This record gives sequence, structure tokens and C-alpha cells, in this order.
Amino acid sequence: MMQQYMETKKEYPDCILFYRLGDFYEMFFDDALTASKELEITLTGKNCGLEERAPMCGVPFHSVDGYLNKLVEKGYKVAICEQVEDPKLAKGIVKREVIRIVTPGTNLNTQALDETKNNYIMAIVYVSDDRYGMSVADVSTGDYFVTEIESRGKLFDEIYKFSPSEIVCNEALYMSGVRLEELKDRMNVAISSLDAWYFDDAICRKTLKDHFKVASLESLGVADYDCGIVAAGALLSYLIETQKTSLAHFTKLTNYTTGKYMLIDSSSRRNLELCETLREKQKRGSLLWVLDKTRTAMGARMLRKYVEQPLIDKDSVVRRLDAVDELLKEAIAREEIREYLTPVYDMERLVGKISYQSANPRDLIAFKSSLSMLPHIKYILGDLRSELLKDLWDQMDPLEDLYGLIEQAVIDDPPLAMKEGGIIKDGYNEEVDRLRKAKTDGKTWLAELEQKEREKTGIKNLRIKYNKVFGYYLEVTNSFKSMVPDYYIRKQTLANAERYSIPELKELEDLILGAEDKLFALEYQLYCDVRNRIGEEIARIQQTAKAVAAVDVFASLALVAERNRYVRPKINEKGIIDIKDGRHPVVEKMIPNNMFIANDTYLDDKKNRVSIITGPNMAGKSTYMRQSALIVLMAQIGSFVPAASANIGLVDRIFTRVGASDDLASGQSTFMVEMTEVANILRNATSKSLLILDEIGRGTSTFDGLSIAWAVVEHISNAKLLGAKTLFATHYHELTELEGKIDSVHNYCIAVKEKGDDIVFLRKIVKGGADRSYGIQVAKLAGVPQTVIDRAKELSEQLSDADITTRVRELDMQGSETRKKRKRLDEVDMAQMSLFDTVSDSDVLEEIKTMDISHMTPMDAMNTLYQLQNKL
Ligand code: ADP
Repeated sequence: MMQQYMETKKEYPDCILFYRLGDFYEMFFDDALTASKELEITLTGKNCGLEERAPMCGVPFHSVDGYLNKLVEKGYKVAICEQVEDPKLAKGIVKREVIRIVTPGTNLNTQALDETKNNYIMAIVYVSDDRYGMSVADVSTGDYFVTEIESRGKLFDEIYKFSPSEIVCNEALYMSGVRLEELKDRMNVAISSLDAWYFDDAICRKTLKDHFKVASLESLGVADYDCGIVAAGALLSYLIETQKTSLAHFTKLTNYTTGKYMLIDSSSRRNLELCETLREKQKRGSLLWVLDKTRTAMGARMLRKYVEQPLIDKDSVVRRLDAVDELLKEAIAREEIREYLTPVYDMERLVGKISYQSANPRDLIAFKSSLSMLPHIKYILGDLRSELLKDLWDQMDPLEDLYGLIEQAVIDDPPLAMKEGGIIKDGYNEEVDRLRKAKTDGKTWLAELEQKEREKTGIKNLRIKYNKVFGYYLEVTNSFKSMVPDYYIRKQTLANAERYSIPELKELEDLILGAEDKLFALEYQLYCDVRNRIGEEIARIQQTAKAVAAVDVFASLALVAERNRYVRPKINEKGIIDIKDGRHPVVEKMIPNNMFIANDTYLDDKKNRVSIITGPNMAGKSTYMRQSALIVLMAQIGSFVPAASANIGLVDRIFTRVGASDDLASGQSTFMVEMTEVANILRNATSKSLLILDEIGRGTSTFDGLSIAWAVVEHISNAKLLGAKTLFATHYHELTELEGKIDSVHNYCIAVKEKGDDIVFLRKIVKGGADRSYGIQVAKLAGVPQTVIDRAKELSEQLSDADITTRVRELDMQGSETRKKRKRLDEVDMAQMSLFDTVSDSDVLEEIKTMDISHMTPMDAMNTLYQLQNKL
């Protein structure tokens, strides 16, 4: 047995081998060491012919799923080696084979899968720094995509968009210096490179052609691709290798160009909290959380996809908005549809199970009850007018034939087990009926035979009995022995009785005992036939499932629009973003009693490209900027938006640069991270992009920071250089000087009201720049000790005396002047420092003592440290 084990293990060196031994899956050697540690199970040993005992550990087969999920979630691959012949019939050692390899991207276990998310596996082929082939698939649903990508930045954007649980790639990607470690840290994705043959062009083409049974790749619509085909082919080969099935539910390869969707880079995705929150990484608190009122798992997955990739084409956006609009107005139809959607089962994942032949009878019954909803949904859709809903009506196949098949064949309440009968309905198959009748009627027949024999022989206490060894027999007590006729064949003699058989009883016995075995085998066979016939219709089921999912998504968007008082955005291609009384879709939900203050946003391609937004901390700057970005994004998803009215000029990309604390873990300094992101934005944004920039330059000294911020605004606002629409929040009030200097730059601030020594946040955005930062008042609100507040006020008055601001305003960032000014500014810096000469060390100590460190962000801590250092 150990030899068989070693031979199998040799073929799967990179997997943990689960080797089936009776009721357990056993692991040996290094696999056992790893698994016992990861699964916290006992490590034992087994004699294996070697000097030392082989380390061994095992898990019971009936609870294997949990252990399997745990290992796979940690990024291991597990090869499942089963007994493939009946141990009772085997001569010598039982034959075993690896029947499937479970990897993070191919785990089908429904317990482990979040049903509202796709579980993607991705293949990446590196050709050169500006050429990558990429293919993505979900083995639980059969979704399968391919594309080609022309830059490393976009490659990362796509990876973050799909957020796969496993990536396979060619060796060249490892060598190319792409930051794979960063992906592992951020996304918990397992990455491995595959052997070179997977990426052989000819093999890839053949694999694809064979799978889709086509003569040329043209008919798949991917003839123009080259590295894309390699990625798709390699992925398919890898799946065939690991899944060891025909993957019949992979019915099409969808090619897409990244240019079809709005580009959202990875940090913006996180910052805008599209599908999960930045800190807790949970759905609650994200945009998706607000928008998702879908009723089916398929709808939930599709909506997530919509949120992850907003559209950029006006017609497609308008088509979606029309559908939402109609379902908003036709509330009764919508609610009826939603009701019919509620019991609809995950049809997409069912086709996966059918293709893997793992769908059990209960899955089919659940599928049947979903099918029974389709005609109702289709009927209601039939009355609706919008183009997209009409298309969905077309695509929705009520699959009545499949409903009929299951209805006829499968019992309504079948057991989970597939080989113990009780699956097939009476009347579906004559042989089943006969066998079943034989089983149940057998008892009556026995009673009749018993009665007949008693009468024939006159033996009053003659009994038909049963035991496992002898089967059925006639028992006669010794006192009646003499009356036993000749044709009784003796089987066994007991102390007080004799046991006999007769041909008629033997016949009945064969019928009754044979019937059960035959019945179970036949029922299983018929069940498999039904499943296979459904398997032949996978493409129809998939198309219908997608249509159902889409109806669910639009009904959800309509309901959300109704409940949250959203309006339909107008869509333009003139680059105008005009939002009246916009609200933040998530923050407004968190604030009780509609207390959210609505604000306008206006940006265009000409005179209003950049808005400089000032205002104290906590005033609501980031909320305002994010809400503007989210409203644009929602419109491009096809959703209504939280505003009194909105006219949205389609944007091609959204970039955000906000906050820095989440990047501290990546090992780069905060300032370096900030500048890398600024560089990325300036390089990749276009005049059609929307930029959200929050406090650029605050990670360095005031003057460097201000200079950088100033130069960035100049660059962005200049149509010859970039000319992107931008919301720019800043602490540098000096930047408000740019209004008037540059045509397209305008100042806004978020109003606050002074109330004696305190401030009240009004949350209203108004024209003009803030003249004060109210930092001390905000510090007070945050609970900074009064001694520090008093001292800060004192210092702030002294500093104003130094009139730094006026001197900074002289700043003109042109040519040699800059350097001269820079020198002057350094002088100011010195002057500023000399003010602190009056501060004694004990004051600093006192400040340190009273600091509330546990409530400081790393940024605050650094700033405070910097200030303290300056004082010494
Ligand atoms: P800033 O970026 O100016 O420091 P934030 O945007 O983080 O401020 O806002 C601080 C808090 O103020 C938010 O968490 C939110 O609770 C509240 N807030 C922001 N904008 C509004 C608004 N328009 N209406 C009501 N509350 C708001």
C-alpha cells in the first residue's frame, strides 16, 4: 500500500495527497507534518518498511469538507485519491486514483463559497511589460473570460477588479518583477507558475478548439487575440488537469476589452469602498451594501460585477437606466417579480454541479421549483416596454421541458443519498414499479404462501421465517414433523424444530431480495439519465440564469431608488457633471433622521475643471468628494442617484488619492506611497477622467508639500497637459490664490459657524476659500486637554504675528523665482522656529504626558512628534 501511495504522490508533488483508507483520508510524510499543523490534528506514525515510522495523520471521510476548505483557504492544493474499485471485489490491493485536485480557485464546496461572490481563478501570461494575456473563470458557474492588457498598471486594475482566489501564470511573469508579493498580502490569493507546455501556442489553440468543438477560433470571436488565447488555453488545460471532468458547463468564452468599462485603479476601488469597507473589509458600509436588494445569489453576483465595472458607453448606460426607470414606475409588477424570484435557486451553480455529476436529487427538486417560477416572471416581463427588459424576456427560456422531466421522474421529497432508492416517482418506469411492488407485495405473498402450505399439509403452526444466513424458510416444530410432505427440502435441524425450503419460497425470496438491490441500482441509473438530459441543456439554462440574474439586479436597483429617494441621472457626453443636492449614499444611511446635508457639485471641461475645497478637519470634505465620485459611478452602473437632480458627463476613469494610514503596512513611507499614487494618477488620467485628491503633499514639510500641491493643480487644470475634472481638498489655504490666476480653478469651502470659542459644522459647501482652519477648535472637540489647547492658541497668535501667510502668498512657482522664494521661505521657517525658543523642555515633557496616544492616527503622531522636535 505504501508503494502505491508513493507512486501516486510522485505524480502530485505540489499537492497534499488525501489518500483514502477505509473511512479515512490519510496523509503521510511531509504532507502529514503540514496538515497536522494547519488542521490541528494529531500526528501519528505508521510502519512503512523504512527504518523510521512514516509520520501520518488522517481525517474522517464524512467530515472531509471542513478540513479540505481549511487547507485550500490557506492556499494549499489538495489531491483527493479515492478507492476506485469495491474493496470486497478487489484482488490484492484496492485500486486507487486521484479523482480531483482542489485548489483555492477551484473549490466547489458550497459551504466555503460565498454565494454572493464569484470564486475566480485567473491565468496571466506575461509577454512583455506592455503586453499581457489574461483569462478568468469561475468553475462553479462556468463563467469564462479572456482579454489582453497593455500595461502593468491596467493588469493590476484587472486583478483587483476580479479579486481571484488563485492565479496561475507563466514563469516569465515571476521574472518580470511584477509585485506578486503585494497581491498575496492584499488579496489572500494563491499564486503559482505552471510548466511551460501549458503556454504552448499550438496546444492552447487545440485545447480551446477541442473543448468548444469548433474548427477555428474565429467562431469563438477570439481570432484576433494571441497572448489572450494562450491565457485562456492554459487556464482551460489547468482546469481539465485538476478537475478531471469535461467541464461541460464551460459553454462559451467571453472576450472583453478593458476599454469597455470605466477604469478604477485598485486604491480608488478600496478608497471609494465599492464592495467592502476600507478598514473592516466587510460589505456593510459599502456602496454594494446600499444597492444590493437582490433576491437570488445569481443576481447578487451580477450586481457586484456591475459595481465593479461601470460602463462608459452612453447607450448602454441609458438602456440600463430605462430598465430601472420602468421597474421603478411599475412597482406592482416589480414586487411581483421579486416575490417570484425569492425561491429561485442558484441555477448557475447547479449547472456546475451537473457538469461535475455531483448534483443530488434534492438539487434537482430545488431546480424544479425555480423553474416553476420562470413562466410567471416571464409573463410579467412580457408587459414591460423598455428595450433591455424586452431582451431579457427574449433570453428567458421557461425550460418547461426540463420542468416536465423532473416533475415526472423525481419524487418531490427525495433523500440526499443517490444509491439507496426512494428517488424515482411511481409511474415513471415500469420496471421500477414492478420491483417496488415486488418489495412491498412480497410480505403479502409470503403470508399467502404460508396459509396455503398450512392448508395443504395440515400443519397448524407452520411458519415462514427469515434469517440472514438461510434467507426465507418454513419452520415445523418436532411434534408435526411426521406430517411434512416429501417435496420439502430440509435446510437445518434445531433441537425442537426443522427448517425447510420449497421451490415456490425460493422464487419469492429471489424476487424480494433481488428486487431491492435491483431497484436501488435502477433508480440510480434513471436518476443519472435525468441528470444527463439536463446536462445536455446547460447552455439554455445558463442563458436563462443570466437573464433571471439581470432582472433581479434591475428590480433591486429600482427598489433601492424608490426607498432612498434617488433620481434618474441625465447622461451627457459633453463632460458636464452637474449634481444638485447630492448626498453620500452610504453616509446618509448611517446618519439618523435624514440629517444628511445635501450639496451641489458642478464641474465641466472648460471653466470649471478644478474645485479647490478648503474647510476644517471634520467639516465634511472627504464625504463631499466621495459622494460626487460615487454619484458619477452609480450613474454609470445604470443606477439612479442620491440627488435632487443630476446630469452626468460620462467619465473614463475615476482616480482617488485619499488618506494614507491604510498603506503603512506596505513598508513604504507614507509620503512615498502618496507620491507614487500621484505619479500614477498624473500619468494615467485623461481629460475625461474624474480625480478626487485629498490633501496632496501633507506627508512632507509644509513648504515642499505646498509646492507639490500647487504644481499638481497647475498640471491638472492645464488642458494642454491634462485638463481632468478634479475635486481637490487641501489644508493649504494658500492654494486658494490660484482662483483668478488659472481660469478653470474655483474655490469652495465647507461652511462652519463660530460660536464663541467653539465651532459648529454646517456641512454646506459654499463658494470661496476658508480663511481659517479652526484646527484648535477641532482639537478641542476631539478632547485634547485644555492645557494643550490654551498653549496652542497662544502660539497660534504669536505665529500670526510672524505673518507667515502673507509671505507664503507671495509664492510664485515660476522659474528661478521659485528658488529665491524658497530661500526666503526657509528664512521664515527659521523665524518660526525661533519663536519656540521661549518654550522650555519641561513644557514639552508636560505635553507628552498629557497626550492621548491611543486616539491618535499614525499621521497625527508623526505630526506631533515633528512639532515637539521643533520646540526643543
Ligand atoms: P473631512 O474630510 O473634512 O475631515 P469628513 O468628510 O470625514 O470630514 O466628515 C466628517 C464626518 O462628518 C463624517 O463622518 C460624517 O459623519 C459627517 N458629515 C460629513 N458630511 C456630512 C453631511 N453632508 N451631512 C451630515 N453629516 C456629514
